[in-house]
Amino acid sequence: MANSKYEYVKTFEQPDNLLSRTWIVIRIDGRGFTKLCSRYGFEKPNDRRAIDLMNSAAQCVMKDIPDLLLAYGVSDEFSFLFHKDCTLFQRRSNKLVSTIVSTFTGYYVHLWTNFFPDKPLIPPLPSFDGRAVLYPDVTSLRDYFSWRQADCHINNLYNTSFWSLIQKAGLDARAAEKRLSGTVSKDKHEILYAECDGMNYNREPDVFKKGSVLYRSFELESRHALLGSSETSAPETPTPQSKTVAEKDRKRRLKATVAIEHIDIIQEDFWNQRPWILS
Ligand code: ATP
Ligand code: ATP
Ligand code: MG
Ligand code: MG
Ligand code: MG
Ligand code: MG
Ligand code: MG
Repeated sequence: MANSKYEYVKTFEQPDNLLSRTWIVIRIDGRGFTKLCSRYGFEKPNDRRAIDLMNSAAQCVMKDIPDLLLAYGVSDEFSFLFHKDCTLFQRRSNKLVSTIVSTFTGYYVHLWTNFFPDKPLIPPLPSFDGRAVLYPDVTSLRDYFSWRQADCHINNLYNTSFWSLIQKAGLDARAAEKRLSGTVSKDKHEILYAECDGMNYNREPDVFKKGSVLYRSFELESRHALLGSSETSAPETPTPQSKTVAEKDRKRRLKATVAIEHIDIIQEDFWNQRPWILS
């Protein structure tokens, strides 16, 4: 259908390629999940089945899209990371965001019955929004993930205190909110202990306190051996990988297990122990 008189309309499309050599984070978030929670009776403050469903959908996305390096999830959101040198879809923002969002949504809906066998999905179906954000260096990128994990901690401490006041101390929502207003972290720990059956926040599961980190768990040594010395010899001008090396790397990425962990990603340890993630 080339060269029809209509083809000029193609020129109305705006280029949207994301800036080269910057880290790409695509964050998706469930639309109206507050309502979805009550419609399907999610346990409050944390429904483990719903978290496992989010994680499984994200794991499938990572398996389908081998360019993805890492994903971090909490509540109804997930952040997916592409390498700064990634060239998937010529870095076109709309292509990247819409592919992540629709792949994730497809798996979320597909996997739903595995986690909620007794609660079939009925419209309105779960949907997600998405955006791409660029980070120019590893410091700001690490700060991004620290921000999300700190947010997880703050929200979870609040939500755990709020729901424990309702479920264990017998307060209603308004009274629980009032009890927590103006409290700092230390006060909430004390409220949980003194007013909610001696609850110790530190003993809450890590999956609630820290969220979920997904990454390919292959070894550092084999990756470096595969890439050869080209990377280390000219760090300023990345040499394009030969087709065979790139293809081998892709196959390895496709085969690699995608690990799901609930650990600290704010401190150095996580990144130091897994240097291949950002390499
Ligand atoms: P929006 O469409 O603007 O994102 P929303 O209702 O989805 O609106 P969010 O700020 O994204 O609002 O909040 C998500 C809500 O879903 C929060 O109330 C959160 O506690 C709840 N939620 C998400 N996952 C779970 C879960 N696993 N268990 C219990 N509640 C959850
Ligand atoms: P990309 O990921 O770049 O979009 P693609 O393989 O999806 O790659 P498209 O240019 O979108 O490529 O083309 C879609 C293909 O699917 C075409 O070959 C089209 O003929 C085929 N196709 C789509 N719908 C149907 C259908 N209902 N019956 C038969 N073939 C179809
Ligand atoms: Mg939102
Ligand atoms: Mg939401
Ligand atoms: Mg949210
Ligand atoms: Mg197509
Ligand atoms: Mg098409």
